[in-house]
Amino acid sequence: MTAEIIPDRCASEPVAAPLLEATPARRTTVGSLEIRRALPLRERRLVGPWCFLDRYGPVSFSAGAPMNLAPHPHIGLQTVSWLLDGEVLHRDSLGNESLLRPGGLNLMTAGVGIAHSEETPSRNSGILNGVQLWIALPAVSRGRAPSFEFHGELPAAELRGGLMTSILGAGSPATTFSPIVGADLLVHKNATMAVPLRRDFEHALLVLDGAASLDGSPLVPDVLYYLGTGREEMSLASRDGARLLLVGGAPLGETILMWWNFVARTREEIVAAAEAWAGGRFGEVRGYEGPPIPAPPLRGRVRPPAAS
Ligand code: MN
Repeated sequence: MTAEIIPDRCASEPVAAPLLEATPARRTTVGSLEIRRALPLRERRLVGPWCFLDRYGPVSFSAGAPMNLAPHPHIGLQTVSWLLDGEVLHRDSLGNESLLRPGGLNLMTAGVGIAHSEETPSRNSGILNGVQLWIALPAVSRGRAPSFEFHGELPAAELRGGLMTSILGAGSPATTFSPIVGADLLVHKNATMAVPLRRDFEHALLVLDGAASLDGSPLVPDVLYYLGTGREEMSLASRDGARLLLVGGAPLGETILMWWNFVARTREEIVAAAEAWAGGRFGEVRGYEGPPIPAPPLRGRVRPPAAS
């Protein structure tokens, strides 16, 4: 049975030179929410330990809930929720409930296993705009107990030409398990922003709003720009102002297997996690109204979409 599971094999393949590799994000849906998936892509699977990047919104709505992710399990990763507009309500099997707003960070460390739901709360602003990311835990940290943390405010630094908010690494108080950076970059109007980088890190950029250029090359939304390693600084220029997401870190140096919502190393581990979920052994997400997302079938050559 295990041989029929086809996980995404994601190797750490850093390019040891500064470059600008542009790959359009893939359009798909998560529930009823239209998203652009910038990681993993066929051309680029990992950036440092970052292995998943969904961009959603901006969407306006007057009824219903654009985000409604019923309880689902994770292993071997951290989930990072970051909003530009709107609200997301997180609940998990440890009993945490966290209402996320712009400027705050919901960070869930799955370790050996956790389940959570994420949804637009019934009281909301009618707007949703954000990103959802996963970080692969290194082998030495994969076996840890699950945990969740919320940070209401993160350090922001006014740099020449723009504002850098450290989401993970670079002075952020959020817990991480390998050398990493995740930052929200606001490039001022008619300005050139100088952003310090680490030479030993891989980096990638995603334009969230507006248009910018990197060392003279234009950058547009919904494209993953992989920068390789070996940069000490980058210059982002914008005429009308722009907002970008920077992700990076030391190359993971491990090959991971991704299947559904699991980051693993072996097929057997994936099967065990799927069976544990089907058997109700991840614990209950209390407070979510509705059934959990069932485990995908383990038979058949189906690659189930990530619930994120
Ligand atoms: Mn999730």
